[in-house]
Amino acid sequence: FHTCNWIIERTALSTEHIALIDIHTGERVSYGVLQNRIDRWASFFHAKGFTKGERIAVYSPNKPELFAILFACEQVGLIYVPLNWRLSQAELQGVLDDCKPILTLYDEGFEATVQQLKVNEAHRLTIVEQVPNTNDWIPHVLNQAEDPWMIIYTGGTTGAPKGVVLSYSAINWNALNTISTWGLTENDVTINYMPLFHTGGLNALSIPLFMAGGTVAIGHQFDAEEALRATNHYEATISLFVPTMYQMMMQTDYFKHASFPTMDCFLSGGAPCPETVYRAFHKKGLCFKEGYGLTEAGPNNFFIRPEDAARKIGSVGKSMLFNETVVRDEKGNRCAPGEIGELFVKGPHMFSGYWNNPTQTSETIQNGWIRTGDLAKVDADGDTYIVGRKKDMIITGGENVYPQEVEQCLITFDGIREVAVVGMSDDVWGEKVVAFVAVYDEVEVDRESLLSHCKHKLAAYKIPKEVIVVPELPKTHVGKINKSELLARL
Ligand code: ATP
Repeated sequence: FHTCNWIIERTALSTEHIALIDIHTGERVSYGVLQNRIDRWASFFHAKGFTKGERIAVYSPNKPELFAILFACEQVGLIYVPLNWRLSQAELQGVLDDCKPILTLYDEGFEATVQQLKVNEAHRLTIVEQVPNTNDWIPHVLNQAEDPWMIIYTGGTTGAPKGVVLSYSAINWNALNTISTWGLTENDVTINYMPLFHTGGLNALSIPLFMAGGTVAIGHQFDAEEALRATNHYEATISLFVPTMYQMMMQTDYFKHASFPTMDCFLSGGAPCPETVYRAFHKKGLCFKEGYGLTEAGPNNFFIRPEDAARKIGSVGKSMLFNETVVRDEKGNRCAPGEIGELFVKGPHMFSGYWNNPTQTSETIQNGWIRTGDLAKVDADGDTYIVGRKKDMIITGGENVYPQEVEQCLITFDGIREVAVVGMSDDVWGEKVVAFVAVYDEVEVDRESLLSHCKHKLAAYKIPKEVIVVPELPKTHVGKINKSELLARL
């Protein structure tokens, strides 16, 4: 189903049409060449005797070859497990012990770490060790819709990494939702700096683009200016970054002076996006909007039209076509418009369960719905706003404070670059609101003015009782602000 031949036939593309670009090396891989590489890996896996359902772990920075391996796994019915290279050695070992891959393919740059891992030599191979060309017979296993295609491990910031099992059906439905709502075609080009072990990099920016016959330009280490230059150089039409990446882009001179004539839309996702980011892009006449997703429910769950995104800043819009979403109160009843509750998601794009973890699975999937752990509200038009993570909500003196609201207020204060609001336990208030702020170079924050700025916009109990200025906020592997680390500091 996902073979390049199928894509080429369906879209009447030339085999020369470019599927992948490596921004770092400039390498361009056509659909024809990609298919050859897929076939080579598939026949190699087959020759090794690997059979359906076995796991192939991949430990590598973003590289075009990863897609050859991913699609070869499909051709042989193997399960692709991309490893997060930011994990500690112990965490990585935990993941490998959990999924027990038949083979770990790794980038030669990670040799030292791999040597430290307990992986039998027969079960590992560097990706540059080009697989032998055994193209005499190319396997094409018939996969069932519910068969697993990948296991993506969660980051582990909220406990040990959990293996999110995604079936062919889940990935295809997510791609179909994405293609139809983003309107993807073979003319689309994306700039993808999201790590390819993350749902955003794989299932938002890559697979839907391939299924539409488009082009994916992959970056390695995120660099704000390089990403913006690549956008124009490769005539990108759509891209997705996390808000902190956009904040970094906005600070470059390149952003201030360039226009992006080929871009249909810049998308933000993965974390709440400050209004200042929206405004900076809108000011340049660009489409900028927010999406929402999670590994378990796929990276795309809502859709908003550009004009609505400009009018309703912060809204992710309405549920995608083949998807249901509902916001429920503590009793499980649907919330009234404007009322904040927990967001539940249901649809054919959702995960099958956590690998080897039925307990966590039954906590997350309830009556066929995914409990996202996120708080949201729906307005009278049916448009959804993500309010924040349930576990991040602060209860101070009996009042609920949603950090995102306080963060949105603080970030509009002159000189503040990044902000994170967390709750710290307090004898008097139960919890108190604490803000971590990072400022632009050579800016000194006057706390009194900052607090009075808040007073104009926020109820007194929401105003931070403490403001801690730090040079930089800690980030997770995809560049989201890492609140667990800030809490640990407190
Ligand atoms: P981990 O890998 O540790 O599980 P994570 O919880 O960030 O990290 P992901 O699946 O990468 O897991 O991200 C999903 C989460 O990102 C959502 O549950 C939500 O909290 C947050 N998120 C995604 N999109 C948005 C958005 N537009 N606004 C606010 N938060 C968002």
